[in-house]
Amino acid sequence: RAKEKGGNTFQLYHPEMNMRSLHWLNLETHLRKAVEKEEFSVYYQPLVDLGTGKIFGMESLLRWNHPEWGMVSPGEFIPLAEETGLIVPLGNWVLKQACKQTYEWSQMGFPKLCVSVNISMNQFHQPNFVQLIQDTLRETKLHPNQLCLEITESVAMKNVSYIMETMENLKQLGVQISIDDFGTGYSSLSYLKKFRVHTLKIDQSFIRDITVDEDSAAIVTALIAMSRKLKIKSLAEGVETQEQLRFLKEQGCDEIQGYIFSTPLAPEHFEELVKNNKLLEIY
Ligand code: C2E
Ligand code: MG
Ligand code: MG
Ligand code: MG
Repeated sequence: RAKEKGGNTFQLYHPEMNMRSLHWLNLETHLRKAVEKEEFSVYYQPLVDLGTGKIFGMESLLRWNHPEWGMVSPGEFIPLAEETGLIVPLGNWVLKQACKQTYEWSQMGFPKLCVSVNISMNQFHQPNFVQLIQDTLRETKLHPNQLCLEITESVAMKNVSYIMETMENLKQLGVQISIDDFGTGYSSLSYLKKFRVHTLKIDQSFIRDITVDEDSAAIVTALIAMSRKLKIKSLAEGVETQEQLRFLKEQGCDEIQGYIFSTPLAPEHFEELVKNNKLLEIY
């Protein structure tokens, strides 16, 4: 293959140097530069109360606007950011932006919104994580009960007692905790028994099929019922259709997030929705 490139250039071909790793090497360099060049921004997706139809909060979602590649999806770079440890400074940056923005909105006389921030296990395990949350809240002046930390349990949780202790300390600060992508991870039920989170976010892979697949419907029904018994709020992720919405409402799901109401939005667009008092309609 190297020969085809012709001439007298000598190319070293390493079997692991396939397209994917080349792409990734490249991506890591770009990712590091992107932080300096401020190519990142934070979008906000409304979280809606199924009882009132009103926006009660929003999830902050990282966006990378690359000058040549355009918008790069977090699905493409978060795994690499995790692997390289870049997720720590990046995640902390999102946290600060989200808190600052939410405080600004509360100063503008908006209803009290709660901002959800995705926290990687990598960040969570930093020795000064609780302190960082405390410092960020103090610096941005955001009220602790307006911050919710989304923890994904897709990583096998090794040090359970450390996690419980950290969660307890976070709770003491007054921040909320939700379990993201619930149902896709490992130790979900065992730690629910040990630690009372505020919200279970039921993964969109279950929601997608609730109206076509009986098993998905059964799982979601059971998760909503379980949440209610445990006095934990249930939130359905990725709601796209009226049929899904009706099903979730019937089952007593508390909250939803999804394209049926809104995609993630740039701050100025999110602001408009709130100002216009947009309501969720169920037919
Ligand atoms: P997530 O935390 O589960 O976020 C929800 C994802 O579902 C978002 O994808 C959102 O755009 C998408 N979504 C919302 N409603 C719908 C819907 O109705 N239909 C469909 N098909 N999708 C919907 P996004 O923004 O691409 O983010 C993907 C993942 O990247 C997030 O999943 C989260 O795990 C991670 N992520 C995003 N921002 C951050 C961040 O700041 N820090 C960390 N650690 N992870 C982040
Ligand atoms: Mg999330
Ligand atoms: Mg999620
Ligand atoms: Mg998800």
